[in-house]
Amino acid sequence: MSRSVSILGVTGSVGQSTIQVIEELRAQGRDIPVEAVTAATRVDLLAEACRRLKPKFAAIADPTLLAQAREALSGLDVAVGAGPSALEEAGARQADWVMSAIVGAAGLAPTMAAVRRGALVALANKECLVCAGPLFIDAAQAHGATLLPVDSEHNAIFQVLTHPDRVERLTLTASGGPFRTWTREQMASASPAQACAHPMWSMGRKISVDSATLMNKGLELIEASYLFGFPSESIDVIVHPQSTIHSLVHYVDGSVLAQMATPDMRIPIAYALAWPDRAAVSTARLELAKLAQLTFEAPDDARFPALKQARLALSRNAAATTALSAANEIAVEAFLAGRMGFLDICRTVEDALAHLEGAEAGLLAKSPSSFAEVEAVDQAARRAARLIAGNLAAA
Ligand code: NAD
Ligand code: MG
Repeated sequence: MSRSVSILGVTGSVGQSTIQVIEELRAQGRDIPVEAVTAATRVDLLAEACRRLKPKFAAIADPTLLAQAREALSGLDVAVGAGPSALEEAGARQADWVMSAIVGAAGLAPTMAAVRRGALVALANKECLVCAGPLFIDAAQAHGATLLPVDSEHNAIFQVLTHPDRVERLTLTASGGPFRTWTREQMASASPAQACAHPMWSMGRKISVDSATLMNKGLELIEASYLFGFPSESIDVIVHPQSTIHSLVHYVDGSVLAQMATPDMRIPIAYALAWPDRAAVSTARLELAKLAQLTFEAPDDARFPALKQARLALSRNAAATTALSAANEIAVEAFLAGRMGFLDICRTVEDALAHLEGAEAGLLAKSPSSFAEVEAVDQAARRAARLIAGNLAAA
C-alpha cells in the first residue's frame, strides 16, 4: 500500500494515535508520505509532529502564532500557514487520505475541503457530521468522497455492515463514562478533572466531558443515523462498561454481528488507513479468559438526560441537531473553565434549544438547506448557550 495522508488535528489524542499508526506501518516498509498537518495553538507539538512525519505543509489555527510556528519549523522544509484559510488548504491539498480529528464544528470547513475533492476521509470528528448532517453526507456522495468512520462504534458498525438492506436495528455501546454509578447529587459537584478521568479511554477534554454526560453517545446516535441512514427508532444504546464490544448490527434473520477489540483508537485508525485491506498493528490483543465477563445495562435517562435530548433533536430535524451540538460545545467549554457545574451542561443545552424555539423559531423550523443556513443555526445556538451560561455564572 502506498497512500499519501493529511492529518487535521495532529496534536490531539486521535492525531497522536494516528502518528503512532503511521510510524508503525512505515517501519514495516509501507510508503505513507504526509502532505499536511494542522494544530490549534500547540506550536511545540506541531513541530514535533513535523519532525516525525515530514509533511509538506503545516497549518496553525491561531493566526497570531504564525511567526512562532515559522520559527519552530525553520529548517524542516515545510511550508507554514495560519488561520482558517490555512486549515482549509490542509484539507484541500492532494492527499489520498485525510484524518479529520479536529474537535468540534471547527473541523467542518477543513474536512469539507477534503470531501469536495473526493478524498478518502477518515472521520473521527463527529461534531462536523452532527453539525452539517445530511448536507455533509450529500456532499460526500456528490463529490465521490469515501467516509471511513473512525469513531470506534461507527467503525465497528462499518466493519460488520455486510448487508445494509437487511438490517433490522443497530446497537451502539457506551462505556457509561466516569459517573456511571454516581448519584445526581454527586454529579452536581463533579470537577472537570473528575469528568475527564474516563475509565476506559484516554481522550481530549471535550469528548471526555461528553462521555461523562452521555452527550457523546447522543452525538454518536445522530452520527450513526446520518452515516448509515437509519432513523432514531432503529438505533439502540446499551451501556457496556468493559468497552470490548464496540457496537452491533442486528439483521432480519436474527443474526447479530459485533466488532470486538481492546479499547484502543489505533485499531479503528489503522482500519481506516489500510481500508479496504487490513494492517498489522501492535495493539493489545483481546484475551477473553482474562476479561471473564461482558456486562450490559440500560442507560439511565434520569441521571443522564443528554441521550434523550439528542434523540429528540434527531427525530425533529437537522437544524435541531446542529443547535444541540453547538450549544453543547459552549456548555462544555464553560464547565471546563469552571464557570458552571456539571449538571448545568445539559440544562444549558436544553434551555438554549428552548430559547431558539421561542425567540428564533424560524431557525429550527426545518433542516438547513445550505451550509450558510447551518452556520446561522450554529451561531444562534452558541449565542443562546453563552447567554444562559453567563446567567448561570452570575447566579
Ligand atoms: P483533542 O482535544 O485531543 O484534539 C483536538 C485537535 O483539534 C487538536 O489537534 C487541536 O489542536 C485541534 N483543534 C481544537 N480546536 C481547534 C480549532 N478551533 N481550530 C482548529 N483546530 C482545533 O481531541 P480528540 O480526543 O483527539 O478528539 C478529536 C475528535 O475525534 C473529536 O471530535 C472527538 O469527538 C473525536 N473522537 C475522539 C476519540 C478519542 O479517543 N480521543 C474517539 C472517538 C472520536
Ligand atoms: Mg465513540
